[in-house]
This record gives sequence, C-alpha cells and structure tokens, in this order.
Amino acid sequence: MTDLTRLSASDLAKLISTGEVSAVEVATAHLDRIAAVDDRVHAFLHVDRAGALEAAAAVDRGEITGPLAGVPIAVKDVVTTKGVPTTAASKILEGWKPPYDATIVERLKKAGMPILGKTNMDEFAMGSSTEYSAYGPTNNPWDLGRIPGGSGGGSAAALAAYEAPLAIGTDTGGSIRQPGAVTGTVGAKPTYGGTSRYGLIAFSSSLDTPGPCARTVEDTALLHAVIAGHDPRDSTSIPQPVPDVVAAARLGATGDLTGVRLGIVKEFAGDGSEPGVTAAFQESLQKLVKLGAEVVEVSCPHFEYALPAYYLIAPSECSSNLARFDGVRYGLRAGDDGNRSLEEVMSLTREAGFGPEVKRRIIIGTYALSSGYYDAYYGQAQKVRTLITRDFQSAFEKVDVLVSPTTPFVAFPFGSRTSDPYQMYLADLFTIPTNLYGGPAISVPCGLSEGLPVGFQIMAPTLADDRMYRVAAALESAVGTFTPPAL
Ligand code: GLN
Repeated sequence: MTDLTRLSASDLAKLISTGEVSAVEVATAHLDRIAAVDDRVHAFLHVDRAGALEAAAAVDRGEITGPLAGVPIAVKDVVTTKGVPTTAASKILEGWKPPYDATIVERLKKAGMPILGKTNMDEFAMGSSTEYSAYGPTNNPWDLGRIPGGSGGGSAAALAAYEAPLAIGTDTGGSIRQPGAVTGTVGAKPTYGGTSRYGLIAFSSSLDTPGPCARTVEDTALLHAVIAGHDPRDSTSIPQPVPDVVAAARLGATGDLTGVRLGIVKEFAGDGSEPGVTAAFQESLQKLVKLGAEVVEVSCPHFEYALPAYYLIAPSECSSNLARFDGVRYGLRAGDDGNRSLEEVMSLTREAGFGPEVKRRIIIGTYALSSGYYDAYYGQAQKVRTLITRDFQSAFEKVDVLVSPTTPFVAFPFGSRTSDPYQMYLADLFTIPTNLYGGPAISVPCGLSEGLPVGFQIMAPTLADDRMYRVAAALESAVGTFTPPAL
C-alpha cells in the first residue's frame, strides 16, 4: 500500500479524482502522520481533525471538484480561519477565533482543499527561525537541532516532514523562500498584489504577500493558481488576470531553456555566503547553462542598502499595524482589575502579550516615524526603495530573471543567532530586495551543503510570475529533489 503522505499534490489529486483513493483516506493519512511525528517537529500550533475530515467528505460526496480537490493543506497561523484559532504565534492573540476567513482561505475551501491545521511561525511573522514563536520553535526535519527558517518555518517543516503536501506562507522579507531553502522545499512569493492580503494579520502592509509552499515546483504552481487573482476587498490587489503559472511550470519541466537570460547580481558576490552554498548555487547555474540558458552579470548598485531600508520600512508599518492590539478588541487583556485606567490596561496587555522581537520592531518603527526623525529614517528608506526598484527595472532590460542563492547560509543550530538581531536579519540578505520592489520570486532546492539543503532563488519582473516557474521547473528537472532522513 502506497504511503499517501509521500505523494505529490498533483498525484494525490489524480488518485482522488479517479476514485482510486478517497479524500478522507488522504486527509486521514496526513492527520495520522501529524499525530505520529509532530511532537518532535512542532510544525503545528493547532490541528483541525474534524474540520479537515468534514471538508474531505464533501469532496468524496462529489460536492466539489477541481484540480486540487481533496488535497489537504496546512495554513500559516497569521492567516485568519473562521472559527479556528489564529494566533500569529503570539500570546496577545491566544484563544482568538476569527469571525471570518481570509480570501485565500475562502479560495482553498471553494477548491475543496481540507485544512489540516495552523502552522507555527515567528510571532507576527517577524523572524527567520521560528525561535520567536511564543509557543516554542519548530524543529527542522533534516536535523531536529536546527532551525526550519522563518517566519514560516512551520509550513516548510510540515512539508519536509510529510505532514502536509501543500502549505500557505506569507512573505514580507523572505518568510516563504528562506524556510523553503533551509528545509529543502519549494516556496514562492507571488507579485505583490497578486494574492489577496484580506484576512492576513498585517505586519508590513506594503510588503506582505501570501503565497504557495510545496515539495515540487508543479505543486507550488497548482496552489498558486488556486489562491491568486483579484480581490476587491484588498485595495492593493491587482485587477488583472493571473499569468498561467501551471503551464509555465510544465513547459519548464521539459528541460529546455534555450535563449533564457539569467542575471547574476554583481553586488551579491563577496556577500559572506557559506562556501557550500556558493558551490551548490554555481553547480546548479552550470546545469541551467546546459539546458540552453545564458548567464549575464548585472549590476544592482542599491541592493546593499536593501536590508537597512527594509528594517526601517517594515518596523514602521508594524508599529502602526500592531497598535490595534490594545487589550480591548482581540485576545489577551491583562491587569484589568476594575481599578486601572484604560491606558494602564493597554500598556500591561502589550507588555505581557508581545515577545521581545515584536517589541523591538515596535520601538524601532515608532522612533523612525516620530516627528523630527521621519525624513531622516522612514522618508530616506522610501527613497532607497525607489532606487532598488529602478535597479530591478534596468536589470530586467538585459535579462529575463535574476538568480542567486536564497539565503547565505544553511539551517543553523538553535540559539546561534538570537543574541544578535543583525545576525538573524542577515538570513534575508538575498530575499529582501524583491519585497521592496514587489516582484515575484521562488526558492527551489538545488543541492546539499554538509548534508543540509541549499535553496536557489529566481526573481522575475512584476506580473511575470510564470517566467520564474518556467526556470524553477527546469532547475528541478536538472537537479532532482532532496529527501530528508527518516524521522
Ligand atoms: N525575516 C524577515 C523579518 O524578520 C522577514 C519576515 C517575513 O517575511 N515575514 O522581518
């Protein structure tokens, strides 16, 4: 009997649609796998067994059909799910059950995809290791003593541990791609505005982008097609058709990249990447050349300012977005003994409810936005953002996509970067420029370094999400997939 948890989403969908297995059997296999391994992995903050089985049964009754009908999925806990706990891995939202579904969750349900549960993450999606989750970290299935990346480490680990064939992530500075890279899974950040932010617990609204995570490029594209597309409830949603990412992935899988120009960024060289990461990246690049691609060096002179600009813009927006957690409207309320003022209760609630990294971001952001400093910090960072966008635009006049390692280092041991925030922020050195620009980017496993996965990043122009899927699938066909040791 085939182990259903080892199959791709596209294979599962085929088996379910032909009636060879039922959606309930598929959901049960994954729920049982979660029960067997998640005490070691801790990818999930909440498992919704009853909800998942009910959704699967509806598919088996023939009520819903579609390309991914019956294929179960895990959803990052920063995305609202009606009646199902949603905490963003923060104590301040402990026990909160949203009264509505995010648009992308509505679309998953309409597509007949059972939601297995909610995945662990860094609190409010701020971090690169899940060590900032208020509920304890997720362990990387490749080595349980190492981080699974972040902020969406739970979604990536759930895939690598075969607890789910598909997952939802959100990417503000790299939180889909960096966990994908360090767990040997695929993660795509769509064009900003290509997937709806409605129902996402906001971190940095001008950057936040929900997107698909899977173990193969084709599965990632299939999920992308389900969740993407215009949503009138999100004012920054793009009112245009979604490019055909599934067709692009299938085209790429034929392994022909004749005439495709890949840009490597001059300023990313000498960036302090681990030698094993650079080696895996270079070898993969050569494999793409064998498929017909051409490599061109391009200069993006402002990329070196991306990290400092991001760490002003994202905290500034966070300080404003997180003002809503005031002890009145949602979740936690601390110190309300009937004698304290509203301000005191608010302050005690925020002190007890937010973790150290979230507080650090709120403080930095409040400072950067304050009168007298606004022009020097937030205003300046916005100008840098424009220059980075121009770097991308002029690069894309010469090349079709830009490529780089996804992250400078492989999964690191727990505790090795928490004492120095800057060391943690470096995890997103290569992913952040794309967020500031707004274009799509994907991370695909490309090799191992000291037995741990390395990710290859492909960045495309805004609205050309299909282009990155083509190159990603070609790369996957050339390098193969990577399987973690048995748990
Ligand atoms: N690691 C980055 C940060 O801490 C990115 C997070 C994200 O993409 N949500 O802000």
